[in-house]
Amino acid sequence: MLPSMQTPAGMIRTVNPATGAPLAEVPESTPAQVKEVVARARAARGSWAADFEARARALRAATQRVTEAAALEALARSITAEMGKPITEARAEIRGAMSRIDGYIDRARAALADERGSEHGLDVVVSWRPLGVVAVIAPWNYPVATPFNLLAAALLTGNTAIFKPSEYTPQTGATLHALLAEGLGEGVLGLVQGGGAVGAALVASDVDMIAFTGSIATGQAIMREAAGSMKRLVLELGGKDPMIVLPGADLAAAARHAARESVRNAGQVCVSVERVIVHRDIADEFTRRVAEEVARVRVGAPELEGTEMGPMVSEGQRARVLAQLVDAREKGAKFVVEGACRGPGFFLEPTVLDDVTTDMIIAREETFGPVVAIERADDTERAIALANDSHYGLGASVWGPEGAETEAVADRVEAGMVGVNRGLSAAAGAPWVGWKMSGYGYTRSVAGMRQFLQPRSRTSKTHDAAR
Ligand code: NAD
Repeated sequence: MLPSMQTPAGMIRTVNPATGAPLAEVPESTPAQVKEVVARARAARGSWAADFEARARALRAATQRVTEAAALEALARSITAEMGKPITEARAEIRGAMSRIDGYIDRARAALADERGSEHGLDVVVSWRPLGVVAVIAPWNYPVATPFNLLAAALLTGNTAIFKPSEYTPQTGATLHALLAEGLGEGVLGLVQGGGAVGAALVASDVDMIAFTGSIATGQAIMREAAGSMKRLVLELGGKDPMIVLPGADLAAAARHAARESVRNAGQVCVSVERVIVHRDIADEFTRRVAEEVARVRVGAPELEGTEMGPMVSEGQRARVLAQLVDAREKGAKFVVEGACRGPGFFLEPTVLDDVTTDMIIAREETFGPVVAIERADDTERAIALANDSHYGLGASVWGPEGAETEAVADRVEAGMVGVNRGLSAAAGAPWVGWKMSGYGYTRSVAGMRQFLQPRSRTSKTHDAAR
């Protein structure tokens, strides 16, 4: 949360995390404005839901507006200024997100298709109807890709939507909204601005579904609030993504992956590497290689083309990571590489820890910072047990010899998305999904699209039987 002491009532005040300098003041939506945006989205439902091919055309055109060179560059610069992502990654985030539109269209079309069957002289038709108005509440770490995934699913399936960006990225949110909403029709895609209180007001409002990405604590608050009216929910939450490294793995590739995925976006990635669990026999060599890889990461001003890692999003986020490091040191972790805090912004250089144990906070709670935290396991069974000893279950990866043995280990890891000798984000067409407390419901895939739809069955006598 932003420090409310410094924030004028009703204003979001943002700070450039690379410099600590004030960036902008953006008005928060008032309760009356939230109500009005919801009412407009409700009124727009009928015409928007009527024609799938028109929706697909409108959304494809919207992605073209976002990827037009000047718009893309302005949006990328806004991401970099507001949350510190290196400019090259900001551009890649936008391009990657928009490039998924054709796949989303195909899967929404499939999700909307009726299913027909007959049994015992009866015809059964299952059809899929939009839920109505979907509130999309987003975090700051991927301020374009994450909301776009949820908005595209909501809109393509025939719902209207309201977007609430994070209070750390309100200008990015406003720019993305303007580019997407133009041409969709009055009220189809609304925008509200603000922090937790505005988010809570949106959840409590007359919407039919909440599609949320963020922390577990906020997900729980949303679930409690939504219980009163049984609103539909998709909650994509935090992770403690373990990476298991076994003897026979390509250690150069594994060490590179551990280093790069721990520091990408300054470690502020939900599907990344949060814990590394290494078989003791290869741990010394692996750790040495990770330290070498980390030393190559170019940390610096995020607006410069060559920068690979920028600042953390906020002083508070950096303080949370530093507190985990203090706890780890007190409990005996070895600092193989100790990153320094750099000012004037919220920089924290990459850090590598060895001999992390499960009593440390860094082994149990999401870190969301540029730290490679290495735990040593005596054997494969212990490595799997360590990976599964967590209330999180978002992503994981297993590195070992190519083939069935490593895949069998991957199959025993309790995570929604598991990579074998590669990163762990879901493949196109597969669900984006967390296990245990990392999520509730899921997106992408045909089944993911159906989370935004209400199934309805109609049973009638077959024509022959009726005669
Ligand atoms: P957060 O939970 O603090 O905030 C997320 C959004 O919820 C913001 O827009 C915020 O204003 C809003 N919010 C806060 N309180 C609310 C309430 N009571 N009711 C409604 N809305 C409320 O999370 P964050 O710090 O912005 O994002 C980081 C978290 O997001 C991490 O835990 C990360 O793992 C997670 N994340 C998960 C995924 C995924 O796909 N599973 C993707 C990206 C980020």
